[in-house]
Amino acid sequence: MEGKIYLVATPIGNLEDITLRAMRILEKVDIIVAEDTRQTLKLLNHFEISKPMISYHRHSKEKKKQEIIEKIKSGANVAIVSDAGTPVISDPGEEIVQKAIEENIEIIPIPGPCAAISALIASGIDAKEFIFLGFLPLNKKLRKEKLKEVKNAQKTIIIYEAPHKLVTTLEDLKQVTENRRIVLAREITKIHEEYIRGTAEELLETVKEPRGEFVIIIDKNDIEEENIFEDMTIEEHYKYYENMRI
Ligand code: SAM
Repeated sequence: MEGKIYLVATPIGNLEDITLRAMRILEKVDIIVAEDTRQTLKLLNHFEISKPMISYHRHSKEKKKQEIIEKIKSGANVAIVSDAGTPVISDPGEEIVQKAIEENIEIIPIPGPCAAISALIASGIDAKEFIFLGFLPLNKKLRKEKLKEVKNAQKTIIIYEAPHKLVTTLEDLKQVTENRRIVLAREITKIHEEYIRGTAEELLETVKEPRGEFVIIIDKNDIEEENIFEDMTIEEHYKYYENMRI
């Protein structure tokens, strides 16, 4: 019988944040596909789980993906984990999921920690509707487009950022967010966990040498809808309405 894929969320810092179900699945599967096997080995050792592992990361070749799919087709149950948090969310796994769907393989999510959602709920910023942008692109043109999206967003924005790029990103955000509230959720669930609140300008004053992991939560743009269009090209204007279509 064909195996299944379990997408298993793992802690983003505090190891107590693994679910009972996640542990049971990691104990039960035949293989664990990990973003970085050394990182996952630390987690498995902590919970005294011993399991064969295969590495799969963003640079893995098509052949590796196919190998994993073949193992599942010949009966292996596979858990996919990333270094921390929910696999697929700004982490590897999406391509295997897509391939598995094409092959009619069953996919089961095992929910758990996700930095974006943890940051959002602690931010105090409107959590009813939000846009998750992951990491902002480094490519200048694409980054400019994303920043424009941040500028005009009528919903809360969530961004992941690496510590060494945080100041540059805050400088870019200062240009497009003006006095909107921003929360930097730092080291969530870890010893130095903190939530730093302010405008981009204020945060640049507070956070001079960022250390640790950060999620950026940005309040929506409250300006009247008609003002949004002032900055838009005709194409962007068109795209805006296309995105609104249900
Ligand atoms: N899949 C993960 C998840 O579910 O959150 C995200 C992986 S992504 C490669 C890593 C980014 O997530 C970091 O650069 C940071 O922006 C955010 N992140 C992960 N753990 C975090 C933590 N404990 N505190 C704050 N941000 C964190």
